[in-house]
Amino acid sequence: MQVSPQLDAKFKQLISRYPVKRSALVPMLVYAQDEYGHLSDPILEEIAERLDLQMTEVTETLSYYSMLRRKAAGKYHVQVCTNISCQLRGGFEIMAHVQKRLGIGNRQTTANGIFSLEEVECMGACSGAPAIQVNYDFYENLTPEKVDAILDQYAAGKHPASVPVISGALHEPDPAEVRVISQRFGIRDSHTLKVYQQHEGYEALTKTLKEMTPAQIIDEVKKSNLRGRGGAGFPTGMKWSFVPKDSPKPKYVCANADESEPGTSKDRPLMEMDPHALIEGMVIAGKAIGSHLGYIYIRGEYRYILDIMDRALEEAYAAGFVGKNILGTGFDFDIYTHTGAGAYECGEETALLESLEGKRGYPRFKPPYFPAVLGLYQCPTIVNNAETLATVPLIIRRGGDWYSSLGSPKNGGTRLYSISGHVNRPGIYELPMGFNLNRMIFEVAGGIPNGRKLKAVIPGGSSCPLLSADECDVAMDYDSVAKIGSMLGSGGLVVMDEDTCMVDVARRIMHFYAHESCGWCIPCREGTAWLRKLLDRFHEGYGRAEEIPLIDEVSENMLGKTMCALGDAAAMPTMSIVHKWRNEFEDHLKGKCSLNAAEVLPMAR
Ligand code: SF4
Repeated sequence: MQVSPQLDAKFKQLISRYPVKRSALVPMLVYAQDEYGHLSDPILEEIAERLDLQMTEVTETLSYYSMLRRKAAGKYHVQVCTNISCQLRGGFEIMAHVQKRLGIGNRQTTANGIFSLEEVECMGACSGAPAIQVNYDFYENLTPEKVDAILDQYAAGKHPASVPVISGALHEPDPAEVRVISQRFGIRDSHTLKVYQQHEGYEALTKTLKEMTPAQIIDEVKKSNLRGRGGAGFPTGMKWSFVPKDSPKPKYVCANADESEPGTSKDRPLMEMDPHALIEGMVIAGKAIGSHLGYIYIRGEYRYILDIMDRALEEAYAAGFVGKNILGTGFDFDIYTHTGAGAYECGEETALLESLEGKRGYPRFKPPYFPAVLGLYQCPTIVNNAETLATVPLIIRRGGDWYSSLGSPKNGGTRLYSISGHVNRPGIYELPMGFNLNRMIFEVAGGIPNGRKLKAVIPGGSSCPLLSADECDVAMDYDSVAKIGSMLGSGGLVVMDEDTCMVDVARRIMHFYAHESCGWCIPCREGTAWLRKLLDRFHEGYGRAEEIPLIDEVSENMLGKTMCALGDAAAMPTMSIVHKWRNEFEDHLKGKCSLNAAEVLPMAR
């Protein structure tokens, strides 16, 4: 098949980025779909031929990723998020409104082919909920009227301005904030090299390349007590020290920017406003572990972020901060961006590596596949969250001890929180580790709207056990939150007021995990599907008394019995809801619901 010169050039550029050609598969599929609107047989055959793959290898891979389509969508593909943060702020009402307005259902296209509609999972706009995406453009803080205005403009052939850069994160700094990672947020053109260098940018890189040994870099990071900001909270310096120094194989640095945990939207503004911090952190990590190649794996929905990162990389290459012989020190390090295509599971580090190799994002067995030893292409690899890596230059510049002193014992520094749900001031806030959760909700985020009381909080993304209002007087660090039976997770705080129906929350969370289960292991595949059915039935008033313990039992049978953490992620919030708000399940048996709404919209899918 003859492709356009632009797509041909893009394909060649993508293939040149990887030591193994197949790694270019998913990005090639994404860019081909962008050009043709869908993936037809001829373009798939063309891609297969360029990558020396069989058609079946291409089709089985593409069928895994939710953003890839074999059939054409409308010219403007409207995606409405109804996941937990959007649900709490009217996401289902927005979905119903768009359906009515366009006269089509979920996954349908208008007769004139202009619009198509899809209800989607979390798109990383939690603190700007409710949100939609039209093609790759984000629109946030919506009302039905605002949605109408957006659709009117598209229908008239115009392109309404999307969320301006900053993704709802820009607010007046709160006095409680300690802005060190976010110090450049809100500064005009903070994403450019010029502004980055005006604010200490690349000073840490100069120091590490000219004055420090790899062991000294790792020691400084260990001193900082920096723990992974993606969810697991593993000590970063220790992770780096696991990479074998004497391995003859190439080593890789992978930035995990696949931020997909519902409630979490903090890596997006970080990369949007401070892309050079991530780049600088990756080169330093490369020096620390003896790597010369890094990839930034960015979730497919964040296309404009990928473009920002690519432009920042161009600047960094031109200025000699990335590439060959960096700063004349003889150290080489290349970085490339890599787009995902819609799969929550690819945020798990081994699944991310499979995806980066051009395959379905199935997790690998650990052991033996610990990435530090057997990672990308079976070579030593570190996979770190984007915020984790972007924090490293700060630690090198000001010292590990200084960074550590900002937080609480064994929980160094500050972290970015995306606060969403029922609060007056949702947003992205940088707070010291150990900051009190109640203060976060009632002071920093402005408390609960309309004088309502607090009922529940997800402290770190939807996979965490929920906390009830009386558990919120807790220091937000990994150890303190673990002590009360939950997790600090990814920093995605979701707040629920007293009128929230917890059966509905459990139901929506389970829809997400059932949708995202890769199906590899039975407890997860079957467990999430059964729980989704049980919770749907309960919510609609058709539950039975004996099913309350059954929900708990099915969850228990998933816990710790699956290959990756998704099984746990689905079970833990569900069990916490059944244990803490069992009365609401019992109320549903009697036809009562604390949502107090006459109409409870069922999931459209
Ligand atoms: Fe796949 Fe779920 Fe098993 Fe993880 S736990 S490997 S997502 S089936």
